[in-house]
Amino acid sequence: MTPQAWINLAYLAASTLFIVAFKMMSGPRTAVRGNYLGAAGMVIAVVAACFEHNVRDGIMRHGAWPLLLLGAATVVGGGIGATMALRYPMTGMPQMVALLNGFGGAASVFVAAGELWNMGARSAGTTDAGASAPLAPWTQFAIATALTGLIGAITFWGSLVAFAKLEELPRFKKAWTNPNRHAINLGLAITTVLVGWGFITHPDWDILYWLLVVLASVLGCTLTLPIGGADMPVVICLLNSYSGLAAAAAGFVIDNNVLVIAGSLVGASGLILTAIMCQAMNRSLVGVLFGGLGTTTTANADDVYAGKVKSASAEEIAMVLENADRVVIVPGYGLAVAQAQHAVRELANALEKRGITVEYAIHPVAGRMPGHMNVLLAEADIPYEKLREMDDINPTFPETDVAIVIGANDVVNPAARTDPTSPIAGMPILDVDKAKTVVVVKRSLSPGFAGIPNPLFAADNTLMYFADGKKAILDLTAALQQG
Ligand code: NDP
Repeated sequence: MTPQAWINLAYLAASTLFIVAFKMMSGPRTAVRGNYLGAAGMVIAVVAACFEHNVRDGIMRHGAWPLLLLGAATVVGGGIGATMALRYPMTGMPQMVALLNGFGGAASVFVAAGELWNMGARSAGTTDAGASAPLAPWTQFAIATALTGLIGAITFWGSLVAFAKLEELPRFKKAWTNPNRHAINLGLAITTVLVGWGFITHPDWDILYWLLVVLASVLGCTLTLPIGGADMPVVICLLNSYSGLAAAAAGFVIDNNVLVIAGSLVGASGLILTAIMCQAMNRSLVGVLFGGLGTTTTANADDVYAGKVKSASAEEIAMVLENADRVVIVPGYGLAVAQAQHAVRELANALEKRGITVEYAIHPVAGRMPGHMNVLLAEADIPYEKLREMDDINPTFPETDVAIVIGANDVVNPAARTDPTSPIAGMPILDVDKAKTVVVVKRSLSPGFAGIPNPLFAADNTLMYFADGKKAILDLTAALQQG
């Protein structure tokens, strides 16, 4: 077999691993193994790429330098990736995913730029005259390069803005609400397309590629800046999809099959996830991208809360719980911050010992990433069959004696049903307000990710328990056990 045939075989193995990995990642029980398989596929793909003809040609001409550069890049990149993965808390995962998407987009921009430079050098018959790669037809090459630059730059800058919003950096907390933003974006988009067309018809003018990248970079920022906090999950999924599409386009630029396959898989899965997230939040994609939703509300915290909020102690809440038959625990982002999952398990054990039925209500966007609450509760060995999805558990709230909301806010905000001006209007929520008694555990009356007041905290049947999530649940369990 020729070296290229071995490389193609390795790419085939890597692609198969990616597909199996994706399948396994769709189920919580197999997700971790799926992740390892995907990583193994990536190692195979990277090692095989090191044997590509252009790397071999480079070694023939420059000695060990290309290998040293590849090794150094792998060590530095792998080191940064591993450090980020180990250091970032679970609650910061969406920010990390945003950064990784962005880096994927930037890498594609540079891969295409490198190949453009290479092609220019080859066609000019200068530095690369001995290269064995055949020249791709210019038009196909130019289209793939333009798409890579366009999507890659939008992904990189859009992801940086999404990162800043998710980190809640002060300047990015508020959405950009310039009334001319749609006109600005349209103007930018038209100019970008014209420059892209110019590049496709004159691919030897490298400057047009860089102009396209600059315009797409600005567009990446101006498209993401108006999107409000509540819609960020959808944006992250979409940018994830873009990073895959940029990689697939880069695969066409350098004629690399595994990049085309892996990029297409990420692109398609990101789009599917985007559609699922839109459905979970009852948003249309067009509404998210161009509506600038999640930005305004007429509700004022003082009007909503003044004189209506009742707070209770652990002992008082324990007394309410002692008389319950059915308790539903509603986890949210604050539970993850407080790392209260093990404490929650102990509370559930204490309740179940008293013959009380305990279930968990899982909202699809509770926390900061899809599946966040499932992963968190699984960490504490809470059985999957006790986790009930929103549509399944919502009709049961009127028969629920106590709903204990721990660090959740937006996903239980009844304003989504009642206030059409709310940024989360129409978003499906957990109907905890319909339970006989609602206990809300959080540290203050401060808002959740969407930045809006929550009338649930002032409802007649709600008791607020102001404390850190973990401490509150430990104290509550102790009070219950003493009672
Ligand atoms: P929210 O962000 O609405 O609210 C979290 C609440 O947790 C806050 O009000 C905060 O109140 C409380 N909290 C924080 N730390 C603690 C702590 N140590 N102990 C107790 N409480 C704490 O969370 P939800 O889960 O209800 O909603 C998720 C939101 O995040 C939605 O708006 C969703 O769109 C968005 N989002 C979701 C993503 C996803 O894919 N799932 C991704 C990105 C965003 P206080 O400070 O008073 O304690």
